[in-house]
Amino acid sequence: MSAADLAPAEPAPWAAFAARRAEGRIPFQYCSSCERAVFYPRVLCPHCGSVELEWRDSAGLGTVYSQTFLPGREGGGRYVLLVDLDEGFRVMGSATDDTGDYVIGSRVRGSVDAGVPEGEPRFVFAEEGPR
Ligand SMILES: [Zn+2]
Repeated sequence: MSAADLAPAEPAPWAAFAARRAEGRIPFQYCSSCERAVFYPRVLCPHCGSVELEWRDSAGLGTVYSQTFLPGREGGGRYVLLVDLDEGFRVMGSATDDTGDYVIGSRVRGSVDAGVPEGEPRFVFAEEGPR
């Protein structure tokens, strides 16, 4: 999956998402019609077609769905996680410690890393420990 595959066709929802993320939030849309979370940002709810989408911010707590090792261009690399956030949507992010020993199903807490040398801020996740 490339970045082009993930980018929405409509610029407005994406711009709103990027602005909120730049403030350190983990934003998502919520459909007040069918009461489900919507992510990636869209104009229409993908579940019911409603345009009644409002912005909300995730508390950042979630469960690891999968992890993948992404090799670096000059050796090393980092672990990319897919995390199911408690509000009901899935995001991609990096493990904060890059050790990659996150067990599928373990609890993590997300935040925004704006210190990426090139490119957009990214979501990062740290182990939350037992509930
Ligand atoms: Zn809906």
